[in-house]
Amino acid sequence: MNVVRTIDELRDQLRSASRPIGFVPTMGYLHEGHLSLVRRARAECATVLMSIFVNPTQFGPSEDFGRYPRDLDRDLAMAKAESADVVFVPEVEAIYPPGFATFVEVERLTRRWEGERRPGHFRGVATVVTKLLNLACADAAYFGEKDYQQLQVVRRLIADLAIPTRIVGCPTVREPDGLALSSRNVYLGPADRQRATVLFRALRRAQETVDAGRVDRASIEQAMADCFAEAGVRLDYAAIVDPATLEPVETVEDEARVVIAAFVGGVRLIDNGPLVRR
Ligand code: AMP
Repeated sequence: MNVVRTIDELRDQLRSASRPIGFVPTMGYLHEGHLSLVRRARAECATVLMSIFVNPTQFGPSEDFGRYPRDLDRDLAMAKAESADVVFVPEVEAIYPPGFATFVEVERLTRRWEGERRPGHFRGVATVVTKLLNLACADAAYFGEKDYQQLQVVRRLIADLAIPTRIVGCPTVREPDGLALSSRNVYLGPADRQRATVLFRALRRAQETVDAGRVDRASIEQAMADCFAEAGVRLDYAAIVDPATLEPVETVEDEARVVIAAFVGGVRLIDNGPLVRR
């Protein structure tokens, strides 16, 4: 496995790489969710490229950029164990050289939910993903459904900017009790770790509400709000949305998506899942 830090080194590595190239961008502090993307890339591609980069532009001024968990040695050992071929670990200056002034804005899809709660977040995500996809020249890039709005934003930008990489969305990997794996779960103390399962319970409760024939938004959102109240967890939003546009829907027709954000103790967690009328 080759670890490269500069754009020139990355280009050198990729010149001789066998195709197809599969690319897995991450912010590191790897867990089974990230590794599921690497395994999928490994199964489908001749060359697996990962990146580990905590992207400063997607964090708000009061967010956790400075204390975002990092452990490069452990990450590289995990990447190697999954047979990644190349790991790109750039310095901030490699991605944002002095004078950097070009940003990518994806409209509409970023207006609500994480985009509304975290101003500038998706501008940072879209910009770094565009740059990394330009550098990777990959045939396919693997993203988790865990960050569902991000996945839709990435799909939009590659279509709009004609980036010749296929985007592969991969299912959310969860703990046995349903909590979606996230690098930020390390912030949870034992009591909050327990309470954090409420996000998954709310997703299940939403589907049960639909299964019971109550398919209107108000009933489903109320059922989820009740879950959070019972658990004593502060809900940020729990909404029923169109899976492609992320706009709220009034009733679940064939398929909708539930998107959730909540504050468990001081930690903000997100989750999402499908809602199907069967
Ligand atoms: P991050 O390091 O948080 O930026 O995540 C890097 C990639 O891993 C993104 O495409 C995430 O959606 C994906 N990812 C994070 N957590 C999970 C999970 N629990 N299951 C599947 N994919 C995940």
